[in-house]
Amino acid sequence: MGRYTGPVCRLCRREGLKLFLKGTRCDTPKCAIERREGPPGMHQYRRGKASEYAIRLREKQKVKRYYGIFERQFRKYFDMASRRSGNTGDALMTLIERRLDNVITLLGFAISRPMARQMIRHGHITVNGRKVDIPSYLVRPGDVIAVKNREASTKLAAATLALESKPRLPDWLERTGTEPPEGRVTRLPAPEDLTLPINPQLIVELLSR
Ligand code: SF4
Repeated sequence: MGRYTGPVCRLCRREGLKLFLKGTRCDTPKCAIERREGPPGMHQYRRGKASEYAIRLREKQKVKRYYGIFERQFRKYFDMASRRSGNTGDALMTLIERRLDNVITLLGFAISRPMARQMIRHGHITVNGRKVDIPSYLVRPGDVIAVKNREASTKLAAATLALESKPRLPDWLERTGTEPPEGRVTRLPAPEDLTLPINPQLIVELLSR
């Protein structure tokens, strides 16, 4: 089988971590990480020891790529998290986890975060009965997130919900309806609910310099 060299899988291979950027392909044996391929490029090579700074920077890059967020917005989340009491790293990650595009993916209405962002921007999603077209919208406990009750919208989500390989629904979310697909936020996400295996403390150390 030929090695997949698409730019998206290359990001995962570089981080040595599944970032789930290619929808259904990520849960198949075709995934470049499952096939345990080496770093990108024509030739495989050994990496030298990473510096302390590089280790911290990579941890931040993983989060930005996984959730699909840009530097400016990431800094904004960090500022918000810094103003909260408690552990800043945990506050940062649980804040990002509440993004609407992430929630749509976790509920299984979209196969990937990029697809979720497109659905939101194209007006297929409502929160508490009102259209929300901002992927970075932060959900709150009690919010009801639904796919608009119109054919074009429900068809998109139905195709994804019919897939066998959906992400495991975390405890802080529940699916409450299928026609149209609907879900509810039962509580705020906790650090143990996060699925991305990273050390947020390294990001705090990087950004607090
Ligand atoms: Fe590619 Fe998805 Fe596997 Fe990442 S997780 S290497 S994006 S198939």
